[in-house]
Amino acid sequence: MPRPVLVVGISVLLFGPYVSGQSKTIALRCGSLFDGRGDSLRKNVVVVIDGEKIKDVAAAAPAGAEVVDLSHETCLAGLIDTHTHILLQGDITAADYDAQLLKQSPEYRTILATVNARRALEYGFTSIRDLETEGAGYADADVKKAINNGIIPGPRMQVATRALDVTGAYPLQGYAPAVTVPHGVQIVDGADQARQAVREQISHGADWIKVYSDRSYYVREDGVLADIPTFTLDELRAIVDEAHRERHKVASHAMALNGVHNSVEAGVDSIEHGNYIADEDLKTMAARGIFYVPTIFVGEYVAQGRAAEGAPVWVKMIQIHEDTFRRAMKSGVKIAFGTDAGGFDWKVNPAKEFSSMVKFGMTPAQALRAGTATSAELLGMKDSLGTIEAGKLADIVAVPGDPLADVSVMEKVDFVMKGGAVVKRP
Ligand SMILES: [Zn+2]
Repeated sequence: MPRPVLVVGISVLLFGPYVSGQSKTIALRCGSLFDGRGDSLRKNVVVVIDGEKIKDVAAAAPAGAEVVDLSHETCLAGLIDTHTHILLQGDITAADYDAQLLKQSPEYRTILATVNARRALEYGFTSIRDLETEGAGYADADVKKAINNGIIPGPRMQVATRALDVTGAYPLQGYAPAVTVPHGVQIVDGADQARQAVREQISHGADWIKVYSDRSYYVREDGVLADIPTFTLDELRAIVDEAHRERHKVASHAMALNGVHNSVEAGVDSIEHGNYIADEDLKTMAARGIFYVPTIFVGEYVAQGRAAEGAPVWVKMIQIHEDTFRRAMKSGVKIAFGTDAGGFDWKVNPAKEFSSMVKFGMTPAQALRAGTATSAELLGMKDSLGTIEAGKLADIVAVPGDPLADVSVMEKVDFVMKGGAVVKRP
């Protein structure tokens, strides 16, 4: 369980502003260090921080530095969750989702989002890619702005704003035709409308364009998870072309055969969920550097609830997902860490995904690199984030134990530094 919000608030007040860039020198005395560059732990290392950056990884603290004793801890680079929804509070069933869009104003949802942003940081996620607001407009861009301006605590954010899907494909659905209901996405049909929406979203602060490429999943007799693709290939290509032309990237929700294939063909930058990916598409992804963001934990989390609601396919998907994940590891595809937090309650620690990745076949070190170095690469920030080395931003967390022996200790982050500023300590 996370610490209560009140306690978190006090710790933030005690340890200074939410903005990075304190000018004094801080030395973190780490009992162990996983620097994200290799598979092993280094023992008794001091990480020296000057301002918002790491200055040195040394054997001793420099004279005059403020020493933080983490000698019983393992230090790691700040965690990165590349698939979150801070504007959502969990949506196991359609009713959960509809209630949030119908009964909560975007303003109220934004207030909740500020709490989720703080939670993410306290869990140790110093950076997140938030993949759409689910009907809350451009609120994510404002939360990001408030964090960057030091108004509220939260992780570094890349945001997707409203996301795109076609008519008839995305909730809210099933209401009488005469009743106007909100939708969780911006609905576009045709290549021109899609291009216009990409331009609109980028002009209002979207760092990423998010598309929903498939829906309506079923398991074929041969065990393949199939779907209804939403966009035509022509539409998807227009979206990717327009986003790339404006130097922005595209994340594609694609859970099954056709959605993944069309996304890969259109040249998206990341496949989200990817419960089933054909071998041929994995090959193309590896060759083109398209990232795979598997979001394993959320699938298990929602499966029983969705099965009870009449969609047992969500239970079958778990085994299919594991098989895909293991094939993806062999194929050499870059696997980034993403959780879909918000798809489950933010009171549940998204770091559970580390254990899910290990259960599906990664070593703890591979899972940790997915959650740091590989995810930094997906964000286009590998020069400043993802490993602990001189010159990088001082985003550092610590856990009370050895994550290589038991990766679930990542759910117990008790020290968090973002950009050289301590926001939580043991
Ligand atoms: Zn999602």
